[in-house]
Amino acid sequence: MIKNVLTKLLLVEDNPADADLIRIMLRKYGPQGLELTHVECMTDAEMHLANHAVDIILLDLGLPDAHGLQAVVRAHAAGPRVPLVVLTGLDDESLAERAIQEGAQDHLIKGQVDARGLLRALRYAVERKTMEEALYEEKERAQVTLSCIGDAVVCTDRMGNVSFLNSPAERMTGCSLSEVAGRSMTEVLCILDAANRELASDPLALTLGRTSTAQLFTNRILARRDGVEIPIEYSVAPVHDREGQAAGTVLVFRDVSAARAKVLQLAHAAEHDFLTGLPNRMLLNDRLRQAIAVAPRQRKQVAVLFLDLDGFKRINDSLGHSIGDKLLQSVAKRIVACVRAADTVSRQGGDEFVVLLTEVQRPEDVTVMARRLLEVVAAPHSIDQHQVFVGTSIGASIFPDDGLDAETLLKNADTAMYQAKGNGRQNYRFFKSSMNDRAVERQHIEDSLRLAVERHEFALHYQPKVDLRTGEITGAEALIRWMHPVRGTIPPDEFVHVAEDCGLILPIGHWVLREACGQARAWRDAGLPQISVAVNVTSRELRSESFLADIFSILEVTGIDPRLLELEMTESVLMKDATSTVAILGILREKGIQVAVDDFGTGYSSMRSLRDFKINTLKISESFVRQITTLPSETSLVTAAIRVAQSLNVRVLAEGVEDHRAVAFLRSEQCDEAQGNYFSRPVPPEEFAKLLETGIASTLLLPLAETIVQDRR
Ligand code: C2E
Ligand code: MG
Ligand code: MG
Repeated sequence: MIKNVLTKLLLVEDNPADADLIRIMLRKYGPQGLELTHVECMTDAEMHLANHAVDIILLDLGLPDAHGLQAVVRAHAAGPRVPLVVLTGLDDESLAERAIQEGAQDHLIKGQVDARGLLRALRYAVERKTMEEALYEEKERAQVTLSCIGDAVVCTDRMGNVSFLNSPAERMTGCSLSEVAGRSMTEVLCILDAANRELASDPLALTLGRTSTAQLFTNRILARRDGVEIPIEYSVAPVHDREGQAAGTVLVFRDVSAARAKVLQLAHAAEHDFLTGLPNRMLLNDRLRQAIAVAPRQRKQVAVLFLDLDGFKRINDSLGHSIGDKLLQSVAKRIVACVRAADTVSRQGGDEFVVLLTEVQRPEDVTVMARRLLEVVAAPHSIDQHQVFVGTSIGASIFPDDGLDAETLLKNADTAMYQAKGNGRQNYRFFKSSMNDRAVERQHIEDSLRLAVERHEFALHYQPKVDLRTGEITGAEALIRWMHPVRGTIPPDEFVHVAEDCGLILPIGHWVLREACGQARAWRDAGLPQISVAVNVTSRELRSESFLADIFSILEVTGIDPRLLELEMTESVLMKDATSTVAILGILREKGIQVAVDDFGTGYSSMRSLRDFKINTLKISESFVRQITTLPSETSLVTAAIRVAQSLNVRVLAEGVEDHRAVAFLRSEQCDEAQGNYFSRPVPPEEFAKLLETGIASTLLLPLAETIVQDRR
């Protein structure tokens, strides 16, 4: 705002005639109320300026106490913000110019000034000074503002060269204004697009080429020359001159790393449980919906397991919430360790967890997982010097059988969980309408197997092994039967694998060993021929800690010669952990216990490991032996198996021998022994005792030629 007032004028002029002239001109043409103060030397002028306000000084440069520029300097010093018009002589042009450089607003040449010229000069001088002051203040205000705000500001000139950097900009870019002033902005600022890490389209080009106003760019990265990267957002605006031509750019940017981290944190918090860090109900629903959407395409099923801890409230109440919380964290950790990366474990709140299995191929997979979860949660949790035990009840539902949407699946798994609780806890239930017959069936088998163990519903049948040269019975294989009170006799293939999965094979296997050895002892006591008794052993039994000790104590109790006990194991059982197998078999061999490879040919054992195991007998799989009868041209596998046994120097037995043709073939190939329905089906012990008494009918072993003759008769 320009003050257009000229009321107090200080005239510094030692020449009375010049002073008079000016006074006259001003009185006659000057503005009304103009107060003119006239002094004749600089000292008086300085005194006046020290005590009075003055709008303008009219200064003669030839004063008695101050000459030339010195007068200008002193007048300035005495009235620093007062505009100054100097009076010079005709020949003092250069002095006048220097006076202006020193800050004088204008100069007048004595003797050439008329009233109008004088007044115009005075008015302009005041106006210009006022304008300068205003500009200065404006600039100051802008500078202070720019350094006070938290955002970084970078300005460029019309060429795109940096002209200004405020201190936040210096801090963020790591460059000082003095370093980069005049350098191209693109050289100073490297801004990347966070989405693709490509150089963001040059903000300068954006602005200088356009007349538009400020534009905002988010999701950018400021890549500093020291390698530090700062997520930023920035706005850029053009500066125009009066003609509307680009005069520069202002770029304002801000560090958004804290804001971005906060957003991420909020997003995480919105989807996760605070205590365990697991996905919460919301995220689970999301994932479940997603899994349901893709499962049909991948021909997979989706399972929802709803877990609820048994008696958690009691633990919480008795041991305190802090231990309760830690228990939940420990349970969460164990559940997570059980599942695959693609699966989701979520905490629904309280002591409820939901496991989402996305790649279920068979309902049995879910059974296995449920059982595993029961096991891991039930293992003791050590928390703050406490051993805390907690059980779980699990309900399962499967897409698509038990529901086609997330809500139904969760609701049904929850219902099944309550059934599990009602069923005595620490167990699992499939949703009852679940038409996963196999899983339900399996669950049923498992439940009744448990009862069967308690109620001793098992029996052993025995099948003879026959020496193919002499026709003698050399041994008996004990084969388990489940005498189910309702379903009748159940063959081992229908329950042994379930028993192995759920661990019931351990008590069952123990019973089989004791029973078989007890039976061998009974036959011996009855004076029957001494034969070996063979027992089938699963992997789970072989690796159980008490396996060896159990066998030894049974042998001792029954008083059976260890050489009469044979253990049959399939190749996969032996190969599962070949190193530990070698060790276990070594101990068995030391005792004299025999080992046979069962179902030889169906697994993948190498010659080398067979040699390392130092087994006693190879039992050729029934599936090969059957070919002797059904595909006489394909007997090479049987022959090969016999040769393997011979080269390993072990006995070889053919399983599943069903007719005389097989016997003839096996004999011609020098197979040592055979076993199969041709000689005898597996029979109860009393019947087997009779077989031992009478022996195998000698006709069964007639040489090939005789057999054919017999056939013709
Ligand atoms: P395995 O050890 O290979 O037993 C031979 C199986 O072949 C028996 O079936 C037997 O009845 C059958 N078999 C005998 N002769 C013939 C024949 O001429 N033709 C045909 N087609 N089959 C014949 P089983 O008793 O049903 O046993 C099946 C499997 O169950 C056994 O195979 C064995 O792996 C397992 N197993 C049986 N008892 C026990 C046991 O006490 N403990 C364990 N862990 N597994 C057992
Ligand atoms: Mg066997
Ligand atoms: Mg077999």
